[in-house]
Amino acid sequence: LGGSISRALQQMSNATIIDEKVLNECLNEISRALLQSDVQFKLVKDMQMNIKKIVNLDDLAAGHNKRRIIQQAVFNELCKILDPGKPSFTPKKGKTSVVMFVGLQGSGKTTTCTKYAYYHQKKGWKPALVCADTFRAGAFDQLKQNATKAKIPFYGSYMESDPVKIAVEGVERFKKENCDLIIVDTSGRHKQEAALFEEMRQVSEATKPDLVIFVMDSSIGQAAFDQAQAFKQSVAVGAVIVTKMDGHAKGGGALSAVAATKSPVIFIGTGEHMDEFEVFDVKPFVSRLLGMGDWSGFMDKIHEVVPMDQQPELLQKLSEGNFTLRIMYEQFQNILNMGPISQVFSMLPGFSAELMPKGREKESQAKIKRYMTMMDSMTNEELDSTNPKLINESRMMRIARGSGRQFKEVMEMLEEYKRLAKIWSKMKGLKIPKKGDMSAL
Ligand code: GDP
Ligand code: MG
Repeated sequence: LGGSISRALQQMSNATIIDEKVLNECLNEISRALLQSDVQFKLVKDMQMNIKKIVNLDDLAAGHNKRRIIQQAVFNELCKILDPGKPSFTPKKGKTSVVMFVGLQGSGKTTTCTKYAYYHQKKGWKPALVCADTFRAGAFDQLKQNATKAKIPFYGSYMESDPVKIAVEGVERFKKENCDLIIVDTSGRHKQEAALFEEMRQVSEATKPDLVIFVMDSSIGQAAFDQAQAFKQSVAVGAVIVTKMDGHAKGGGALSAVAATKSPVIFIGTGEHMDEFEVFDVKPFVSRLLGMGDWSGFMDKIHEVVPMDQQPELLQKLSEGNFTLRIMYEQFQNILNMGPISQVFSMLPGFSAELMPKGREKESQAKIKRYMTMMDSMTNEELDSTNPKLINESRMMRIARGSGRQFKEVMEMLEEYKRLAKIWSKMKGLKIPKKGDMSAL
């Protein structure tokens, strides 16, 4: 996809005269690529129209960077589709919330329920899982196995066939046990859709969830819109999780799900394992969708945040796949040096949603400083190592002592490092542009 879009943009850049015809051809090319990437037909058409309204032909004719103007317009339009304008209900730690998962069989509900629970448990919540799937044989066993592995309390039955009854019993039980995140997994048959939606309605009415999450397999393609809409019509879907983003899926279906449910994507599943689960971030997702080297102007960001003299070296290291603790330290420094953290917010990939939640800049800043204090107690060997196993327990203890922080804070900082390293490692193999050619990206 990225290839055909950049080709279209390149062709337009090369054209000496930019008239409506050239712009239309370019937009058609981009639209074709988006359709192939499973973005819904209507969304593509709307986007095409919006862009024509926004982009001024005179600007294109006069301006030098036509490619940049169109690319930015497409990027902005796609971001707009993915941002339904209002955030979803967010459960609060320590306060009981019931979250119900819906979606077709095989979409990844049961797996995602556990990931969602595990994600919160790691942050100190008290989650619990309720298996209200009485339709599929083995559903309870699957949930039980997942829950046991993650040490999360669960409820279900081999005998009871009424999903509403089990759901209510489970929710009641965990409310009594003061769990703050009660997750209800439901069934999702392929056939008997009317019956499925009726069942979802009943479970929802009986358990009164604070949030209903629609789980969607990213590989369902153009079917995404209708599927999401069908669920939205029977239950009050408030958020979307897109699964199997690790496979060949192109991801355009996520836009459909948001458009159909008017609810944001909150997480994506990127593998079968419990921790292959990421907070959804609109911009990197759209860059990936557009194939902009996985990063919307990753280079732009590097240019904005990283001082000129550090840039070539940083890019070189990243292209070699070495995101070390020292690099993280230097990026922290850059961010803090740039002034109001709210403005630097989300400039560097991975440094946004997780590390610096919106509206909590002070805390984020304090956290970054705390991390840096701990890193000040590290040896050069540790800072420059690319071996994650190097920093063992005794080293962690020493770092904690040296910086006057707790062991678990060192652990947290290293977790953060691993998370960022995973994201930044995608820069491995990056072709470093020649000097002066940075804007070509
Ligand atoms: P359910 O029928 O909706 O409950 O779906 P399951 O949770 O049972 O998942 C169906 C299959 O998809 C299982 O084999 C899961 O391991 C797999 N799966 C779920 N999420 C992901 C994901 O993010 N990536 C990959 N690769 N597989 C996933
Ligand atoms: Mg299931």
